[in-house]
Amino acid sequence: AAFPLLKPINMLERTLIIIKPDAIKRELIGEILLRFENAGLHVLAMKMVQVSKRDAEKFYAEHAGKSFFEKLTTLLSSTPIIPVVLSGENAIAHVRKIMGATNPVDAEEGTIRHDLALDGTQNSVHGSDSPDSAAREIAFFFNTLEIFENREG
Ligand code: GDP
Ligand code: MG
Repeated sequence: AAFPLLKPINMLERTLIIIKPDAIKRELIGEILLRFENAGLHVLAMKMVQVSKRDAEKFYAEHAGKSFFEKLTTLLSSTPIIPVVLSGENAIAHVRKIMGATNPVDAEEGTIRHDLALDGTQNSVHGSDSPDSAAREIAFFFNTLEIFENREG
């Protein structure tokens, strides 16, 4: 191609979501996965894990020092969580659109956070915010043997 470095408009991407403790406690696992599957995203990996407070602090290192850091990392390590690798065209932005804004008060109607989240901390789902964070976050929870490699395409 003449311009091999130009990014195609539709990028097949992977992203990491986490079904957070508040959603697990309220039996919303199926509801949340259904929304992503219905939107055309494919599940490449999934498990239920309990992370330590230290793991949660490492996962959310970019937020260290912020006012909500303690609350956030305490929540994430409070019960098991479900990290999931999703794939699809423009999956990172697509997933964030389906999730809605961080605070459910600001989230658009029909988004997961608008419809299901409890508050600005207990907002039911996490989703990677960039290709770099998606790569880091997927590797945080999964090794290559745990990822359904040939699902895409
Ligand atoms: P996200 O990418 O939309 O999840 O938002 P951020 O990366 O900015 O923040 C990570 C998580 O920290 C959010 O999903 C919330 O659980 C929590 N959080 C972020 N901002 C706030 C805030 O202003 N107040 C509170 N209480 N929690 C927050
Ligand atoms: Mg974020």
